[in-house]
Order: sequence, then structure tokens, then C-alpha cells
Amino acid sequence: MSNGKPDNMPDQIRHYINGEFVDSVDEDTFDVINPVTNETYIQASSGKVADIDAAVAAAKDAFDNGPWPHMLPRERSRILHNIADVVETRQQELAEMETWDSGLPISQTLGQARRAAENFRFFADLIVAQEDHAFKVPGRQINYVNRKPIGVAGLITPWNTPFMLESWKLGPALATGNTVVLKPAEFTPLSASLWPGIFEEAGLPAGVFNMVHGYGEEGYAGDSLVKHPDVPLISFTGESRTGQIIMANAAPYLKGLSMELGGKSPAVVFEDADLEKAIDATIFGVFSLNGERCTAGSRILVQRSIYDEFVERYAAQAANVKVGMPDDPKTEVGALVHPEHFDKVWSYVQIGKDEARLVAGGDRPEQFPDGNFLQPTVFADVAPDTRIFQEEIFGPVVAITPFDTDEEALELANNTTYGLAAYIWTNDLQRSHNFAQKVEAGMVWLNSNNVRDLRTPFGGVKASGLGQEGGYRSIDFYTEQQAVHINL
Ligand code: NAD
Repeated sequence: MSNGKPDNMPDQIRHYINGEFVDSVDEDTFDVINPVTNETYIQASSGKVADIDAAVAAAKDAFDNGPWPHMLPRERSRILHNIADVVETRQQELAEMETWDSGLPISQTLGQARRAAENFRFFADLIVAQEDHAFKVPGRQINYVNRKPIGVAGLITPWNTPFMLESWKLGPALATGNTVVLKPAEFTPLSASLWPGIFEEAGLPAGVFNMVHGYGEEGYAGDSLVKHPDVPLISFTGESRTGQIIMANAAPYLKGLSMELGGKSPAVVFEDADLEKAIDATIFGVFSLNGERCTAGSRILVQRSIYDEFVERYAAQAANVKVGMPDDPKTEVGALVHPEHFDKVWSYVQIGKDEARLVAGGDRPEQFPDGNFLQPTVFADVAPDTRIFQEEIFGPVVAITPFDTDEEALELANNTTYGLAAYIWTNDLQRSHNFAQKVEAGMVWLNSNNVRDLRTPFGGVKASGLGQEGGYRSIDFYTEQQAVHINL
């Protein structure tokens, strides 16, 4: 690595179709920038309809004529474990590429690379333990469930923790015997360029994994994948608005859809909470991964009796969060992914200054006057009808709001269109469980940080998503369940 730039960079980021790296049919490319300098460091192939056609044809041929869907679960599982092994041995290289491309701190991209390996291991184990129902009507009938892979799965992913989020879709899609076309996010295509080598080394047959880079809009890779008639499944992670467009575009084909969308998750701190733990966790919950985290606890609701103390201590701790170069192991907040995204987050900081009381940050760090760096920013006294309370900012910016009663806390927690996660801090057992029941969120963490158990459902309610992934729910999404009836 020199100046943070990883060794072993490809000369261009290319599509990967039927076991070969290829350029776009029209040879078009787009610029990929480094978020520290905002300079273009590489070209990536820009996929359009023709490239998606080729990738889908390869995936369909591998599904219709190749060994992958018919292999024993144990055989597929072995290859998935190989993939996890290779990811683990290459974790440093992966983390360096991800940090270079996305601006995320290196200590955190290393954690994400390990989680990517774990995703493959988890689904490798799950698929061999898979059981299905059989029902008997004594003397008359036996009925059983025949589970089958569906075909070509279209996987569309965002730029935050790109490699890990790709693995969260690739693991179950491949474990269940589907073939895939992955469309990585255009801001961060670099780490995905390692997938082909990883899969080849692990022994995945050619054509099972295909990848087309490029933009999402009409005529480009993402849109063309959604509209391809030979792709019966789309698993999408991204913004809620994009999810709506994809659902509309997939409707004429009646595709299976998994939608993991945006969030504006509340962290509710009651007066009986362990304040130190709550502060540490809510700092981490919004400033880790540069705040570019779908489950960020970006609205902190605090009971009034501890409100002033909380705000003061929180602001002081936020001011101590270390902003730095993404490749510095001590850095806690790196550079936001792209100048377009920086401008969006920056505009919310200016809006927040009019809407609420700024208690920490609010500017670029002194040592980084240019580029996509931002001080961890904390607004207090944020009213529920303000934009910084309602809209997903997706950066290191948090809104703190006081409440008096449990009812008011619940009303505030549920007062957004989103419903991805919620975090509750209280030492009252009944209160915590009752609150969890009523809060409109797909996932709730009680007195705990955002630590995932891969067996549990992952997904949001309201504008945060449709359908759940995780454990057997992912297996359900990527398989057909056919009922077979036999008369005795
Ligand atoms: P985005 O919606 O802009 O883009 C996501 C992907 O969709 C990209 O690959 C993009 O090229 C593609 N795309 C865009 N328009 C498309 C179209 N019309 N058809 C097909 N594909 C299209 O999202 P983003 O800015 O990359 O990611 C940030 C968002 O993702 C945030 O809202 C965040 O909360 C959300 N997110 C959700 C989860 C979750 O699990 N719920 C996880 C991570 C991120």
C-alpha cells in the first residue's frame, strides 16, 4: 500500500460474465473516484442492456444446463466454505480496497470483510441442515414440500459496506442453487472486482456468478436487470425511493422482491438507563461506518430528567470521535463516500442549524478543510416536524429530542415513515419488552449495540422494506416451495 492506495489494483474494473472479465459491448466506462482526494483513480465498465443480456444468458445457461442447481447441498456447502476461507485469507487486501474506494475506516472495513466470510459460512452450514415439512393423513395421503432453486437471481447493492452487503445476498442465493447477476453500486465497485478470483479459487463453476457494473437508471445496468424477463428474483438494498421505482418496474413481470431500504432509527434512552453504556452505544450507533449505515440510531430520544446531562456528555464525547484518514487504524470517522453524497449531508447540516441547536461539530474538521470529511455533528432540541428528524441523512449527524413519558417516547419513535431498527436503553424489564412490542421497527436492540445474530430476521417495516432476510427467511426467498401430494 502506498498513500493508502492498495497494491494489486486492476487496470480497469470490468464486468465478469461466464467466467471471463469483459468490457462493455459499447466499450463505455465511467469514472470511479477516491473519496479522500475526489480524484478519478480508475475507470469501470458501464453496463447497459446488452451487457445485462449477456450476463443473464450466461447465468441462465449455468442454471438450465450446469451442475450447480443439482449438486448435493453438502457439495455446494463445501464450495461456500472454500469461499469463506479465501475471503478470510484475503481480508487485509479486501479491507484496503474497500477503505480506498469507500472512505470507511480501515479498522471497520476489516470487520466487514470478516463478516462477509461469516455470511458464506453461515449459509453453507444452514443449507446442509435444511429440513422441510411432510404431512401425513393416515391411510390416505402423504404430502411433502419439495424445495427448489428459482433461477437467475438479480442482486442490486448499495455503496455502504459494499463487499459485506454483496455477500449477504450472494451467500444464500448460491447456497440454494441459484445462479446470479450482481450489480454493485457505481460509487464503490472496487472490492467487488475481487469476487471472480475468490470464486474461481473456491471452485465455483463458470457462469454461476456474473457481475455487471454501472449505473442504476433507465437504460443502464440496474434498470436493465430489473426489467429482464429471465430474472425472476430481485434482491435490492438501497434507498426507499429507488425501491419504489424497482417495485413498479418489476410489477409487469411479477418478480419475487426483497427490499432492504432506508432508515431513521430511534435510540430511546430512559432515565433509569445505564447512562455511560447508553452514551457509548449511541455514539457508536451513529458515527461508526461514517454514519453511512442503514440501521444508524440517528434520532436519540432522551427522557427529560436526564436530558441536559445526556446532551452535555454526548456532545463532549462526539467532539472526541477521531476523524482521520481512512487507512489510519486509529480513525473512527473517515471520508464520506462521494462529493455528491457529501453535499447532501452538508446541506442537512445547514438545515439543522436553522431547525435546532447545534451542540457539536457542524463543520469540516480543521485538519481536513477539503474533501468529504465532516465533524461528527450533534443537534439537540430537535422538533419532530423538522427535516433533520424526519429524513435519512446517512452521515455522521444525529438529532437529540427530549420526551417526558413512555407514551410520548413511543409516539416520537414511531413518528417517521421509516421502521428499520430501534434501540432501547432502560433497566426496567417490563418497560423494555412492552416498548419493543409497540415500536414500529423490524429489529429492536434492548440495552445492546447493533450486533447481529444471522439466524434472526433482518428487515424493516413501513418505508424501510418489504420481506425479511436472515436464517431460513433468506432460504425461503431464494427457493420455490412446491407441495407434492401422494395418495396412499
Ligand atoms: P440507491 O438506492 O441510490 O442505490 C442502490 C443501488 O441501486 C445501486 O447499485 C444503484 O445503481 C441501483 N439503482 C439505482 N436506481 C436503480 C433503478 N432504477 N433500477 C435498478 N437499480 C437501481 O442507494 P445508495 O445511495 O447506494 O445506498 C444508500 C441507501 O441504502 C440508504 O437509504 C440506506 O439506508 C440503504 N441501505 C439499506 C440497508 C438495509 O438493509 N435496509 C442496508 C444498507 C443500505
